[in-house]
Amino acid sequence: KEKIDEPQVAGLVRASSAAGGGSDNPVAATILSLVRNEDLEEMIASVMEVERAFNSKFAYPYTFLNDAEFTQEFQDAIRAALPAGRKVQFGTIAPEDWSVPESIDLERFKASMQHLEDEGVAYATRESYHNMCRYFSRGFYHHPLLREYKYTWRLEPGVKFFCEVDYDVFRFMADQGKVYGYVLNLYDNLQSVESLWRDTREWLEDHTQYLSEGGAFDWVRENMQKPENFATTGGYSTCHFWTNFEIASLDWLRSEPYEAYMDFLESMGGFYYERWGDAPVRSLALALFADRSQIHWFRDIGYSHFPYINCPNSDRCDKRCSPAEFVPWDNLEVENCQATWIRYAMTQEERDL
Ligand code: GDP
Ligand code: MN
Repeated sequence: KEKIDEPQVAGLVRASSAAGGGSDNPVAATILSLVRNEDLEEMIASVMEVERAFNSKFAYPYTFLNDAEFTQEFQDAIRAALPAGRKVQFGTIAPEDWSVPESIDLERFKASMQHLEDEGVAYATRESYHNMCRYFSRGFYHHPLLREYKYTWRLEPGVKFFCEVDYDVFRFMADQGKVYGYVLNLYDNLQSVESLWRDTREWLEDHTQYLSEGGAFDWVRENMQKPENFATTGGYSTCHFWTNFEIASLDWLRSEPYEAYMDFLESMGGFYYERWGDAPVRSLALALFADRSQIHWFRDIGYSHFPYINCPNSDRCDKRCSPAEFVPWDNLEVENCQATWIRYAMTQEERDL
């Protein structure tokens, strides 16, 4: 199979050769983790992964957020795992950003959670999971600790990065005018988003001014494998970027279309009455309000978050993953939506990159 390399664009920024390293031309960016104290060990493992693959060269700061206070032990252990001088900040989430809003009818919430659980929707009855999805959809980019930043790289506990990344990915995003970067692109559970697209379409009728001319509309509306699912979702393919890895422009998230859309979604209550994930929410917003060319597939970033893997066929990748393994590439019909993206949203130029 064909080898995969760095993006073929001029001016990729390399790490500084000066003592202490860092990017030769850094962006206001941070690696961001939402994590619980009890996930310390897996968090450190992830930090080591991203350091080895990327950040030991580029020295970007870390931001850790939690709905509870981080213990001293957690903070000390994270700092101890990192080179001296690496900036690390720890923040708590305001309770109102991490709780069921007053507008939610608790009886209806309870009943819907039970219904979704019976339908087999993962985490349906876990209130904290609903809070988490809502927070990643509409909350995190307002956290005071992120005010100074323009980009975040989302890092979850227990993930792996298999390949050397030798260019400044944040600089790449900024220089190429990208607002979003992802690695994996999947179908979603139908029941978790039954009304998301129906609601969205209704709202769009009065908000057509927000639609991007070059939106990735067909990625949302075409389902190359399972058009029968449209009956459940009202025409949404359920294609979404797998947000557990994402590089996002905070300016873009803080823009009027995104914020207006989030206010609308909040008013519909679907973070609680259904189990709208931040992944489909983010993905619909991107498909509708961004230009397709502002969304970048980091096919060169080897990544795993259980149960999926992107392992590029590249000499930059280590032996822990099998080259050209793109799980669930084999299971394309059931779970992988990247083919739809390539067909409907990528320009020829991007395919060649
Ligand atoms: P999954 O990947 O969909 O199975 O969901 P995860 O359990 O990995 O949660 C997604 C992200 O939110 C991860 O970074 C978790 O560490 C974080 N997370 C989930 N629930 C909580 C919570 O209740 N508190 C905190 N602080 N973080 C959470
Ligand atoms: Mn996860």
